[in-house]
Amino acid sequence: MPIYSHSRLGKFEGCPLSYKFSYIDKIKSEKEGIEAFMGSQFHGVMEKLYQECSFKVCSLSELFEYYESLWEKNWHPTISITKSDMTAENYRQKGRKFIEDYYRRYRPFNQSHVLGVERKVNIKLDDSGEYKFRGVIDRLDKAEDGIYEIHDYKTNKYLPTQADVDQDRQLALYQIAIQEAWPNDTREVRLIWHYVAHDQEMRSSRTPEELTQLKADTVQLIKKIESTTEFLPNQNYLCNWCGYQNICPLFKHQFAVESLPPNEYLNDDGVKLVNTYAGFYAQKQEHAIQIKGIEAELEKVEEAVVAYSKKENASIIVGSDKQLKISEKETIKYPGKNDPGRTQLNEIIKETGKWEELSCLDTYALTDALLSNSIPPEQTARIEGLVEKIKNIKVSLSKKKEDGDD
Ligand code: SF4
Repeated sequence: MPIYSHSRLGKFEGCPLSYKFSYIDKIKSEKEGIEAFMGSQFHGVMEKLYQECSFKVCSLSELFEYYESLWEKNWHPTISITKSDMTAENYRQKGRKFIEDYYRRYRPFNQSHVLGVERKVNIKLDDSGEYKFRGVIDRLDKAEDGIYEIHDYKTNKYLPTQADVDQDRQLALYQIAIQEAWPNDTREVRLIWHYVAHDQEMRSSRTPEELTQLKADTVQLIKKIESTTEFLPNQNYLCNWCGYQNICPLFKHQFAVESLPPNEYLNDDGVKLVNTYAGFYAQKQEHAIQIKGIEAELEKVEEAVVAYSKKENASIIVGSDKQLKISEKETIKYPGKNDPGRTQLNEIIKETGKWEELSCLDTYALTDALLSNSIPPEQTARIEGLVEKIKNIKVSLSKKKEDGDD
């Protein structure tokens, strides 16, 4: 079984399909969002600052210089900028601002004693050691009051609420590792996040009971991942930054046609199908009564779209200004009340001892029984004491009958 990390668990929770691409199929994604790139360079600067601060306090200009050198050295052409109103230079300047704000807030960086930066930790999540977790702590400190502090830098724009950080899994799992490593010294641990885009610190702590529960919940999540056989795509806000759009069923068609020149774009089979469908659909909306056969045409195109979607393994097909989503949902059809299989089904459920849990009252049949007086009067009266009678009024419009009509 693999050793799980916070990002591995988060990847599965965010989108099981991208988890599969990344951790099972091991498909390397070349694409890196500029936000993540800038965050990495900021972390590099913090690493230098705290590695050196026990013997010298770096100047702000030294940190800027180091940041610029990291930016130049690590920049690569596949870094993507998704926001149309932002440039690489805007992000570079943003990173400088984060460094400056942080520097001014914490200089001379003597609030606590640094025990380690980028410190690797490993823990066993269960007694047998089958389920393991590993991570890297941005900075581990011991404060003046002797309490250990786990620090984490966040460069994203989203500022969580106190309730969010009180539920955070990542630093709480790191706390377990720290308490296992120094059991006599770490009865209390502070979890501290630096939200540098807001120049704000957020703090939280965990009780032993919360940590025990967290371990159990994490094991449950790992069990769920290990037993998953169908890794479905989950469209979410991170799709814009996902490096697997070219192979994801939700984006691959759009991805493929966007790279075509405008004249070829309109010749793409998928685009043609969606445009044809959109054309018939618009006609149906406008002239539903006058134009005959539109429904039949729509059905034909729909069939062709479904076949195309299967062939291309793409569940969203784009056209010029519309798109079609093709979804398949599996439903279970059980034998009906009068089917011979129904008795067998009931017997099987009873064998499992779950009849009470899984069977429930048929309220439609009960209404019929009450109306036909097949329930004894005493029980009828007791049932009526529990139910509410609601009168539904239905108004139906139909053609006015003229004299002579049947
Ligand atoms: S593009 Fe979105 S839905 Fe598709 S794999 Fe990536 S995260 Fe999942």
